[in-house]
Amino acid sequence: MAYKEIFARIAGNTFVHERVTTGRIFRPLVERFVAGETIEHGLSAVESLNNKGMAASLDFLGEEVHDEDAAASVREEYLFLLDVINKRGLAANISLKSTQLGLGFNPDLCRENIATIVERARDYGNFVRIDMEGSGYTSDILSLFYDLHNDYDNLGVVMQAYLYRTGDDTRELVEQQARIRLCKGAYSEPSIVAFPKKKKVDENYRHLMEYLLEYANYPAIATHDEALISHGQEFAAEHGITPDKFEFQMLYGVRRDIQEQIVENGYNLRIYVPYGKEWYPYLMRRIGERPANAFFILKNIMRESLHRE
Ligand SMILES: Cc1cc2nc3c(=O)[nH]c(=O)nc-3n(C[C@H](O)[C@H](O)[C@H](O)COP(=O)(O)OP(=O)(O)OC[C@H]3O[C@@H](n4cnc5c(N)ncnc54)[C@H](O)[C@@H]3O)c2cc1C
Repeated sequence: MAYKEIFARIAGNTFVHERVTTGRIFRPLVERFVAGETIEHGLSAVESLNNKGMAASLDFLGEEVHDEDAAASVREEYLFLLDVINKRGLAANISLKSTQLGLGFNPDLCRENIATIVERARDYGNFVRIDMEGSGYTSDILSLFYDLHNDYDNLGVVMQAYLYRTGDDTRELVEQQARIRLCKGAYSEPSIVAFPKKKKVDENYRHLMEYLLEYANYPAIATHDEALISHGQEFAAEHGITPDKFEFQMLYGVRRDIQEQIVENGYNLRIYVPYGKEWYPYLMRRIGERPANAFFILKNIMRESLHRE
């Protein structure tokens, strides 16, 4: 069983959930990856990033919402966020999850919620990115995207290099002039839909990145992989693609050293800034990407449990 899959099972355990969400020892780890629990925390992180020459994409944390009221309150949060971004003149757009706005129980409602948000963003000349979620939602998210893409050009979507289907999806999206963020993919997926070996994911990423740089409408290269970042920069330079034609994207709290270098070297960089109380699944995906992070969690859960007994 792959490490990511083992960790996804550990993260789903209620005992681990309870320990991580209540244990003070885990706060530094949460604070590293999440800007804070309130909108002001998110906005103040964006201000600091903007001061360093980095743009941001704000994500109000949450996913798999199961009722209309909850989805409506997420929609209102994003509308307010767009108002404040505009009022304060921040260099920031927003990233949202379709399952946070109703996709799991009512796709039409989800479409309406996202359309309302995208329309508000359009009024401000701003942009909305629909994050990509687990493979069970890929087709639904893409249909939703295509449907809205007909009416709005300030909306983008995400492709995950670990899925076998991504080459075909990417070509179709590029034909439709869609704005694409390319990432490796963060969910634990079975080998029937995704490359099980990291080497293959990296190869696919490299191939897709070259394709996007050459043909896509302002692609976002979202990775912290130094080899891929350097390759992207070299490929762009060799093909006469100037740095204003694409952007790099990275996650809040991950490889801050490279973040600064990218800006110093004259490339556009956007940092994905998550905030909100529903940080557990997001944090667990970050932990699941790196065994060293998981080791820290497990070691401290054991230590805490021993102290309590
Ligand atoms: C802006 C942005 C948006 C994203 N949106 C989505 C999305 O919509 N859907 C989706 O499925 N995934 C999304 N992801 C997550 C992505 O799929 C990967 O899971 C994540 O970026 C790690 O892959 P990597 O490209 O950095 O490569 P990796 O090979 O995993 O990592 C390269 C190097 O980066 C560092 N690193 C990476 N992750 C961590 C970490 N958690 N902690 C510490 N160091 C780390 C390490 O130094 C590592 O060696 C997004 C990522 C970014 C940057």
